[in-house]
Amino acid sequence: MALNVEKIRNDFPVLSRKVYDHPIAYFDNGATTQKPQQVIDTIRRYYEEDNASIHRGIHYLSEKSTETYEKARETVRKFLNASSTNEIVFTSGTTGSINAIAFSFGEQYVNKGDEVIISEMEHHANIVPWQMMCERKGAELKVIPFNEKGELILEEYEKLLSKKTRIVAITHISNTLGTINPVKEIIGMAHALKIPVLLDGAQAVQHENVDVQQLDADFYVFSGHKVYGPNGIGVLYGKEELLYEMPPYQGGGDMVDCVTFEKTTYNQLPFKFEAGTMNYIGAGGLATALDYITDLGIEDIREYEDSLLEYATGKLMSVPGIEIYGKAARKISILSFLINNIHPYDAGMVLDKLGIAVRTGTHCNQPVMDHFKITGTLRASLAFYNTKEEIDRLFEGLQRIIKMFG
Ligand code: PMP
Repeated sequence: MALNVEKIRNDFPVLSRKVYDHPIAYFDNGATTQKPQQVIDTIRRYYEEDNASIHRGIHYLSEKSTETYEKARETVRKFLNASSTNEIVFTSGTTGSINAIAFSFGEQYVNKGDEVIISEMEHHANIVPWQMMCERKGAELKVIPFNEKGELILEEYEKLLSKKTRIVAITHISNTLGTINPVKEIIGMAHALKIPVLLDGAQAVQHENVDVQQLDADFYVFSGHKVYGPNGIGVLYGKEELLYEMPPYQGGGDMVDCVTFEKTTYNQLPFKFEAGTMNYIGAGGLATALDYITDLGIEDIREYEDSLLEYATGKLMSVPGIEIYGKAARKISILSFLINNIHPYDAGMVLDKLGIAVRTGTHCNQPVMDHFKITGTLRASLAFYNTKEEIDRLFEGLQRIIKMFG
């Protein structure tokens, strides 16, 4: 069913504010998304009515709070179609999840001379934790290149896979190029050699139905704030048999079973990976956000966003001097581009004064910039609450910039 975008926009209070006397046109959804009133209300209600630390209390509020937190875990399980809540660990975000896996998996399974495969289009959050782990373990990082359209070269991937490979960590969807990677194929190729695969879903779960069992992903991670939920909460999905064998990566309350000075035993899954007072309010807010987009229908969201992408791409391509980076056959509504030799910061600042929010710079994708031999791009990342009228304003803004800077 087609989305009622006008009605949806009323759910997002920020979208009705003005910036420099212009209505805001928010095109920075790849960095973070705006929050619907439903998520804001959940967080407020939680603080107003039920706030108490989870798991460790026997009093009423603690039980209520624990119930909301564990219900949120079940919402995430259903959202990803994981087979058990034991496979759903809450973290601080995608970065937190990847660091946890890189450390813990590395401790358990990676040794000197082993290899880890990532790709040239990874966000720094899916590069640096693996580099750190490889350095600690004496392992080597291997990188799958992408072609000029921004698509991973699978023949090169095939050449990199070997008996030395311990894990493959790939972004499901690129945050700069918008490329939707052929993750099922990537996983199939790794599994043929019994190599587990981590997918970085930070840019995927808000645009695609993700079914971890159907994908057969070994690890899948995402952030709450990019999926219309709160900041500071994220998800680490891991197959139970892998998580079971992996050691905890942080010590402290809740992840323990019994503590003595001689020895500590650890809690069961998923609590073994949840040390300290968790962000239970964030988990509750995330569950509301996931329910919100599930109710809208992720396929309908995608259909509308695809129409925005097509419209915006057509508009940008009609302007001589605009170069788009990321032309994959399968991509989501992310447009990275440059205008002639105008510095992206200059262009971004002019757009800002017109009330148009885009991102400028490397988008935590320095190797992608190096690939194209550029220092950064402008990036408009579109969400289901954006409109063609807003894209027209972006287009007019870009024409103005071209006139201003010659
Ligand atoms: N991976 C990708 C593909 C991303 O787009 C981002 C955020 N830009 C991250 C990882 C990191 O997410 P977070 O900062 O929420 O941990």
